[in-house]
Amino acid sequence: MFGLMQDRPLLISSLIEHAATFHPHTEIVVRSVEGPIVRTDYDAVHRRAKQVAHAMAQLGIAPGDRVGTLAWNTHRHLALYFGVSGAGAVLHTVNPRLFPEQIDYIVNHAEDQVLFFDTSFAPLVEKLAPGLRSVRAFIAMTDRAHMPAIDVPNLLCFDELIDAQSEDYDWPVFDERTASSLCYTSGTTGNPKGVLYSHRSTVLHSLMECTPDTFGVNSGMTLLLAVPMFHANAWGMPYAAAMAGVKLVMPGPHLDAQNLYELMRDEKVSISQAVPTVWLMLFQYFDAHPELDPRALGLKRIGLGGAATPRSMIERFERDFGADFVQGWGMTETSPIGVIGNLLPKHAALSEDEKIGIKMKQGRGVWGVALKIVGEDGRRLPHDGKAFGHLHVRGPWIASGYFRGEGGGVLDAEGFFPTGDVATIDADGYVQLVDRAKDVIKSGGEWISSIDLENAASAHPAVAEAAVIGIPHPKWTERPLLIVVKRPGSEVTASQLRDFLAQRVVKWWLPEDVVFVDSLPHTATGKLLKTRLREMFKGYVAAKSV
Ligand code: ADP
Repeated sequence: MFGLMQDRPLLISSLIEHAATFHPHTEIVVRSVEGPIVRTDYDAVHRRAKQVAHAMAQLGIAPGDRVGTLAWNTHRHLALYFGVSGAGAVLHTVNPRLFPEQIDYIVNHAEDQVLFFDTSFAPLVEKLAPGLRSVRAFIAMTDRAHMPAIDVPNLLCFDELIDAQSEDYDWPVFDERTASSLCYTSGTTGNPKGVLYSHRSTVLHSLMECTPDTFGVNSGMTLLLAVPMFHANAWGMPYAAAMAGVKLVMPGPHLDAQNLYELMRDEKVSISQAVPTVWLMLFQYFDAHPELDPRALGLKRIGLGGAATPRSMIERFERDFGADFVQGWGMTETSPIGVIGNLLPKHAALSEDEKIGIKMKQGRGVWGVALKIVGEDGRRLPHDGKAFGHLHVRGPWIASGYFRGEGGGVLDAEGFFPTGDVATIDADGYVQLVDRAKDVIKSGGEWISSIDLENAASAHPAVAEAAVIGIPHPKWTERPLLIVVKRPGSEVTASQLRDFLAQRVVKWWLPEDVVFVDSLPHTATGKLLKTRLREMFKGYVAAKSV
């Protein structure tokens, strides 16, 4: 017997419609690509999104067609988020930081019909255009006065195209399982693969982000959207923000620490999220400006994910900024939130140090995501905080496969998605990442976590950033190599670092060698690029001095 409840599909258009109805004048503040601050609101973005939907028809975009964007976090991109998906087409957010050859591959693979781009990418678009076989029009996301002078076929002006459309539009109602947006994983190995989100997965993921035990997104907040809208839909925040009617602050292309700081200060931002590299940049800004008091910003909550967090980062946010630190773990394939780390009531009596120890873990299960860890034989391992194995996840916002069947069937026999991460899960359900399966160092039949070693090294005051990779070893198969960027003006030797680590990790984990470099390579999503490091140190022979 079916229940007698109304069968309304969960559609992305309902999010912006709700925001425009119940939070029409809640502000959206944007540091525009052109430079000045633009102030708009949900009512205006909703009207713009409806015009975008009309423009889709004018451009000949049919339901299911892919619409590419090469764009920063702005009001125009936000209107595309709701307008393109709301009309039934698929918004394909392309990461402009990828190599041009990867962008070419991705746009062709997705068969994007049109490409919206910010003017900062005009030279890139001009270079790529001849190879983008499916793209019929290129739309510069600006006004007439700022149109780039580039030679591409069918170059249109966003403001002109959209201004000409009617604001009268009834959002179509269709199956909630319809594809809504597409995002390619950066593909550190092999070709990038497309993760295809649905309206249903996006709305359920947004609901989860609004619950108090996760990010608790609510209308009392002001959110600085520091995660790019081309990274797993900015962690789903534009949708959750509309669902809750949150004041949004968008930095555009101006992701430098000074601009982020000024936006936080001027717009009274209460919550923001980003990968650790962004927060490191903000810390460096405060280091260079000792006259500024981070507490005066009034930040209440800082979210972090995407890469391991140094303990010192949590300490600094909580101690110097007075902000509550929340870590999340996930990946493009998990929309991206898989687990989120908040404390439980029983932790209230713990010391600050112990609480930070718990916040170092990646997080606990949220409703909607089932978790398991399995050994090499695929058998489940206990949730005792000690056994570690491959982390597999299942739920309504977890990918079931890749766009156009790339990579074949990816789920295990129980329908779980293998994440490629190695983790422990403790009795309270906290997941702790040991490593990515391909980064773990296999030494004498045992595993060494490169993440744990990096965290331990980062705790040294002279270390700005640390990376650990495995180097071949005749006896132990692999041994860890520690690669360090020193903090400007600080000095530390390899043997001092090794002594420091000896107090923090077991002896056989100690790095075979320590190398100092000026900078470390990062991926397009700001993570350590271990493949590049492995190339750089191929054939490296450890010095015996350490
Ligand atoms: P890729 O890095 O392959 O481009 P994603 O951006 O989707 O893909 O990154 C997902 C990966 O990032 C996860 O599989 C995990 O290894 C890492 N990651 C995500 N969150 C965390 C976290 N809180 N701590 C450590 N690593 C994390």
